[in-house]
Amino acid sequence: SHDLELIQVGKTYDDGTVAVAGFDLAVSRGEFIAFLGPSGCGKTTTLRMIAGFEAISSGTIRIRGRVVNDLPPERRPTSTIFQSYALFPHMTVRRNIGYGLEVKGLAKADREAKVDRILAALGLEDIAERRPDRLSGGQRQRIALARGLVVEPDILLLDEPLGALDANLRRAIQNELRLLQRTLGITFVFVTHAQSEALSLSDRIVVMNQGRVEQISPPRELYTRP
Ligand code: ADP
Ligand code: ADP
Repeated sequence: SHDLELIQVGKTYDDGTVAVAGFDLAVSRGEFIAFLGPSGCGKTTTLRMIAGFEAISSGTIRIRGRVVNDLPPERRPTSTIFQSYALFPHMTVRRNIGYGLEVKGLAKADREAKVDRILAALGLEDIAERRPDRLSGGQRQRIALARGLVVEPDILLLDEPLGALDANLRRAIQNELRLLQRTLGITFVFVTHAQSEALSLSDRIVVMNQGRVEQISPPRELYTRP
């Protein structure tokens, strides 16, 4: 019944840098997990290994019971949202969001229905026919989120997705994220170096330091020992 399991996962880069070592984690379906820790502690590397962008050096990663160690990213039931939105500037918002479905070969009518649903869920209907380069940071972040969610992943991986936004917008999108996650029941794995973000968003916080897991706790137990 675990959506995601990491068993003694490690990553040593070609230059000898040990980025992650002995990482153990089991995530239930629909949980919101935050990876918290200082820059360089291995958060992004771990997320990239779950997504399949980075090969693991040791251990096992399972998604819904299936070992994914050797699966390329496009065959994993994950979507990744990055800090830089990586939207196509020449495509409309609608086409940006539908692109992943197009690549998968989904019929136009199915595609449009899914895109319409996610446009509505994220309040993007009014800008659906516009191009992303003229839109605000908050709007672009919502588009990136929509693009990740429209393919209906088992797990959404978010790498500091709010880092480029100002404080007010960050709070607003944090609330939306939390609501969306509860509504959809999708497992979220969220990378951040901001304690406040981890505390307000997640069900459990994985505190990392120098490539290792220091502790895993729900927010209210982060600073207390049981
Ligand atoms: P975080 O996301 O917590 O900032 P990273 O996962 O980006 O941490 O990095 C973990 C460690 O691995 C750091 O020491 C970083 O410099 C190193 N690292 C990241 N990517 C590479 C790479 N491609 N080659 C070598 N070392 C890397
Ligand atoms: P962050 O701190 O936000 O995780 P970085 O700015 O450290 O990201 O890294 C940006 C990119 O550079 C990533 O693709 C990462 O893998 C790569 N990188 C980070 N550290 C190193 C390193 N020591 N050697 C080679 N590539 C690295």
